[in-house]
Amino acid sequence: MKVRAKAGDDNLATVYIAENEKGNVIEFAQSLQPPFPREKKWVFLISTLYGCPVKCDFCDAGGFYSGKLSKDEIMFQINYLLKEYDADKFNCEKLKIQFARVGEPSYNDAVIEVLKEIKFNIKKHNLYPSLSTVAPASCALFFEKLAGVKKTLYPKTFQLQFSIHSTDPEIRDKIIPVKKWSFKEIADYGEKFYDEGGRKITLNFIYNPDFKSDAEVIKKHFSPDKFLIKITPVNPTYKAVSNKLVTEFQYKEDVWFELLRKEGYEVIISVGELEENKIGSNCGQHITNYLRNKEKISESYTYRVVSIG
Ligand code: SF4
Repeated sequence: MKVRAKAGDDNLATVYIAENEKGNVIEFAQSLQPPFPREKKWVFLISTLYGCPVKCDFCDAGGFYSGKLSKDEIMFQINYLLKEYDADKFNCEKLKIQFARVGEPSYNDAVIEVLKEIKFNIKKHNLYPSLSTVAPASCALFFEKLAGVKKTLYPKTFQLQFSIHSTDPEIRDKIIPVKKWSFKEIADYGEKFYDEGGRKITLNFIYNPDFKSDAEVIKKHFSPDKFLIKITPVNPTYKAVSNKLVTEFQYKEDVWFELLRKEGYEVIISVGELEENKIGSNCGQHITNYLRNKEKISESYTYRVVSIG
C-alpha cells in the first residue's frame, strides 16, 4: 500500500489517497475540531472497502466496488496517520478512530480484528472507536462479533451509529438500496449493545425535507435512554449534487427535532466545517476526484492534490 496524494490543511482536515499493488485505491482522512488541539481531540476516518456495493444515493463511495481491505490494509491507514503527525511524541485525550470513510464496514470482518489489534497496540492515546453502518440485513454475524468486542474492550468508549436517514421505509429503501434491518431489529440490537455509562447509539439522519422523517416512528421504536439523534446536512458530493439532494440546511424550521427533544431525546445538529466541503473531505468525494483526474490537480478544490508517493 502506498500513499499517492494528499489534500487539505493539517490544522483542519487532510485526505490521503493510497493504492495497493493491484491498483485498488482508497482514501482516508484525519481532522481536528478547532479550537481543540491534536492532543485533546483527533479524528481518523478510515476506509474498509474498495468502493462500496451499497450505492447510497448521496455517497460517492458507491461509485464502484472492488473488494474488501485486509486487516493490514486497514491498519496501514491508522499507522500512517500516527506516523505522519508524530503521534509517538504526545498523548491524545480522545483519539476517535471512525470506520466511516469508504465502504460499509459490516461487510468486512477484518474490522473486528483491527478493533482488537488497536486496543492492544496503541497505548499512548485514549481510543474512541466508532463505526457507522446502514445495518445491512446480511451482516448479523458481523454485528454479533462487534457487540462481543465492544462489550469486552470498549464498553464505555465505543460509538455506534446507524445511518437511517428517513423513518419512511420506502424512502429509506430508495436512498439506501440494499436489504436492511427494520427499525425493530435495530432497536433490539441497540438495547443489547448499549452498556450503562457507555455512549448512546446514534441514529443519523441526513437532512432533506423530502426524506420525511417522523418523530412518532422514532418514539415507537427507540428509547431516548439508549439512542440519540444526529442530524447532518447532505454534503455536496458528486452523487448528491447529481441526484439533486443537496438542500439549504434550514433545520430550525423542522418541527420533528423539537418534538423529539420534548420527548427527552438528545438531538445533535452537526453541520461540520464548511471548509471540509472545499477540500473534498466528505466521504468518497476525494477518491472520485482522484480517479477522474489521476495526476491532475483539481480546479474545484481550494487545496492542491500533491503527489507524495
Ligand atoms: S454511505 Fe456508506 S453504505 Fe452508503 S454507499 Fe457510502 S459507504 Fe456505502
